[in-house]
Amino acid sequence: MMQNPFRQLPSVDLLVQQIIDSGAVALPHHIVVAATRAELHDIREHMRHSADSLTPDAISLPALIERVRKRLQIITAPSLRPVINASGVILQTNLGRAPLSDAALAALHTVGCGYTNLEYDLAQGKRGSRLAHATTTLCHLTGAEAALLVNNNAAALFLVLSTLACGREVIISRGQAVEIGGGFRIPDVLRQSGALVVEVGTTNRTYPHDYTNAITPQTALLLLVHTSNFRISGFVRSASLAEMCTIGREHAIPVVDDLGSGSLLPTQVYGLAPEPLVQESISAGADLVTFSGDKLLGGPQVGIIVGRAPLIAELRRAPLARALRVDKLTIGALEATLHSYIVGHAPQELPVWRMISTPLAEIRARAERIANHLCAADINVAVQPSHSTVGGGSLPGDTLESVAIVVSPRLPDNTGARLAHTLRMGTPAVVPRLHNQQLWFDMRTVLPEQDESLMHCILAATQTPPSSEE
Ligand SMILES: *Cc1c(COP(=O)(O)O)cnc(C)c1O
Repeated sequence: MMQNPFRQLPSVDLLVQQIIDSGAVALPHHIVVAATRAELHDIREHMRHSADSLTPDAISLPALIERVRKRLQIITAPSLRPVINASGVILQTNLGRAPLSDAALAALHTVGCGYTNLEYDLAQGKRGSRLAHATTTLCHLTGAEAALLVNNNAAALFLVLSTLACGREVIISRGQAVEIGGGFRIPDVLRQSGALVVEVGTTNRTYPHDYTNAITPQTALLLLVHTSNFRISGFVRSASLAEMCTIGREHAIPVVDDLGSGSLLPTQVYGLAPEPLVQESISAGADLVTFSGDKLLGGPQVGIIVGRAPLIAELRRAPLARALRVDKLTIGALEATLHSYIVGHAPQELPVWRMISTPLAEIRARAERIANHLCAADINVAVQPSHSTVGGGSLPGDTLESVAIVVSPRLPDNTGARLAHTLRMGTPAVVPRLHNQQLWFDMRTVLPEQDESLMHCILAATQTPPSSEE
């Protein structure tokens, strides 16, 4: 006779009591009850809908206690976890882009652990403006008249378009109506802002006269978007920023330059293609320039708008600016990051620039030291030339020479993909590149202080038998 399978499950109360008695968890009673109820619910749903029934072992009391314990672990552990980036992509958006400098981290602590003059004028002893912070430094560094911070660069672009072009026309080259990543498409942002998109030219060629011919009394802005994440070559022409600024001046229409990454330092020094400099856009005559804080600038996530004082003043007054404003932690970390530029120490102090500028020999020495230890532990390991990229929507197709530790799984059944999974689930998580079932740990993007930790993670993962559930 078939037994009702649901009968085999204990009641919520009984299971909760067992869990508490087992001493496996020390959490408030109602949290344990909720997790137990959810776990039993999931098991019942599984029984109802799945053909493969659970074995008696899988729903034994110890197994159920373990399931709830795991569920509670997920609830109580932070979901944002540290990752060792061995992917070779320096500004990996999925891994949080720029790691912060020591000074930026110290600023987060100082600002976060007490009160600040965030919106308080200390000299006058009265209310001040949050928007006053970091602006003087930004103007110094870029040559701009004024600056404004918002949540990120997408927000910066949205604020500019909706404040200065809502219900009016924005002219953009077809070659620059691009998708940045994560489904962020420039034409969609334009439409959402209430601006009317006027695309001119063709995918590969746009001439200055294409812009001039499209200007009407309804034209609010000329928009340039840096094609950050791809490059077209061959029969290509675009209007330069200088050409567009000439047109803008003749017709009294502001020119907005969305640089995406932007940079304050020349990338050519490190053998990379030139990434546009913010200060160059300003000196070429752009009325507004927007860029990210966490790309090549090497700081926290923030959108930076620099440019002409009257336009920045208009943006500051927009109600949307309040919705997109930055918090004190961001301002603190950004000011510390900008300080590295002001004193000329950015290449040494900012992790992103340290990674870009690390000499190959240094990377190779670190790789070999770790590889020797792994080899001694009987791991199948080699040191190979590799190529890192800057990423984060900058310098598409451009690579930096690097060195990788290459690990081939040795245990039977431990495929590269399985080993990669074990590494991702470890603490800290490690993200290498997987290539032909080999794991490539690109050492340019591993912070030197993580070398020991990386080595231990690889040792632990290669000695873990492949788990059955993934
Ligand atoms: C990255 C990028 C953005 C978006 O910046 P976020 O800081 O990610 O919001 C916008 N425009 C361009 C050209 C970009 O490269």
